[in-house]
Amino acid sequence: MKAVFDCVSIFPEMFAALTGSGITRKAQEAGLWSLALWNPRDYADNAWRTVDDRPYGGGPGMVMRAAPLEAAIHAARARQQAAGVTKSRVIYLSPQGVPLNHASVVEMAADTRAGVGLVLLCGRYEGVDERLIERVVEEEISIGDFVVSGGELAAMLLMDAIIRQLPGALGDAASAAEDSFVSGLLDCPHYTRPEVYAGQAVPEALLSGDHARIRRWRLKASLARTRKRRPELLAQRALSAEETQLMTEIRLEQCGEQ
Ligand code: SAM
Repeated sequence: MKAVFDCVSIFPEMFAALTGSGITRKAQEAGLWSLALWNPRDYADNAWRTVDDRPYGGGPGMVMRAAPLEAAIHAARARQQAAGVTKSRVIYLSPQGVPLNHASVVEMAADTRAGVGLVLLCGRYEGVDERLIERVVEEEISIGDFVVSGGELAAMLLMDAIIRQLPGALGDAASAAEDSFVSGLLDCPHYTRPEVYAGQAVPEALLSGDHARIRRWRLKASLARTRKRRPELLAQRALSAEETQLMTEIRLEQCGEQ
């Protein structure tokens, strides 16, 4: 089944970044995913279509009101049911949520393929009325320990990461399999023409045409890069016999350099 996304946002036009460009656009045209946008302003109960109000207790900023958001989420769930989803996961993009990572993206991609729809709630201002979260939100997801102005970019990041995992979304399925984090390592460095750029040559192994040698070079480069930049990833991962051997070589080479 295609992945079904519904986003609740006061800036639905922002989602053109996903539907209008690149891999996500092609995947949508190929029928791998669908998107419906729900503007809570369409569910506001006042002539000015305002969806925010001052916070109780005072202080700066505004808070998104619960009622228009709940009505928009309700409409999103109804359209997902009509589209044949087995269940809707209502997710609030929030800096206070569970940090997003590769494992959760893969899990959500599998869920969408199994018929689960995602309803993504994009906050603005100081956030949304807590009672709305308690009533209808099932999960909160964060894109990192920093704050952006609204949930739209966070929702689009999540969707892009999921769409990349859908079979047929990438021109070459192998490229997703070699991405950082998939095997618990960072990806190796990449090079393209010319062979020498600004006096720097492409590593000789990559020009050798020897597939076994190239594979070994890439694995070693991935291990070395992960060790240098994200050592905690290596600590969480069991190494194969070949990887253990390569790590020994990397340590010895580093000792030699010092
Ligand atoms: N006052 C909130 C706080 O400190 O937790 C931040 C509100 S932020 C300015 C407005 C909206 O942007 C949030 O409601 C949320 O939807 C979204 N947002 C901001 N940072 C985010 C992050 N790191 N991950 C996911 N969503 C985020």
